[in-house]
Amino acid sequence: PVNEMKLVFPSRSANESYARVAVAAFAAQLDPTIEEINDIKTAVSEAVTNCIVHAYRDKIGTIFLTVKLFEEGKISIKIRDSGCGIENVEQAMEPLFTTAGEERAGLGFAVMESFMDKLTVRSKPGKGTTVSMEK
Ligand code: ATP
Ligand code: MG
Repeated sequence: PVNEMKLVFPSRSANESYARVAVAAFAAQLDPTIEEINDIKTAVSEAVTNCIVHAYRDKIGTIFLTVKLFEEGKISIKIRDSGCGIENVEQAMEPLFTTAGEERAGLGFAVMESFMDKLTVRSKPGKGTTVSMEK
């Protein structure tokens, strides 16, 4: 990468907007369109919200975010938690699948997938989850 930044912050809901805006401000050096920036903000928001509401459901844990910028104008974003993990990643990534009952739509991963060019989710139950996205 030509540039890189890391953020480490507690899973408080107030930090969701901070993470989203911080990534957008950093990505601005790539000279993206407004649409590209909005896509990145939406994807980061979904991934960070998942850490807050799912990974650390009844507690506050740490969220690790890494952003890398590449010469060709590409960006990679990694959002990692050491929370509860996901039992079945393939199922979790299906549109409308949620473990949150009526409260949530189950569309977070679908949104990340459609707003970014690439989405990879690695998870270990009891250990945590890493969401990697590229655009
Ligand atoms: P929405 O995002 O529409 O509010 P949702 O969060 O349930 O609803 P997704 O973001 O697609 O939908 O996530 C699907 C499911 O994957 C979640 O319901 C949850 O069970 C699981 N999940 C997602 N991210 C994590 C995470 N970081 N740690 C643990 N479980 C997760
Ligand atoms: Mg979600």
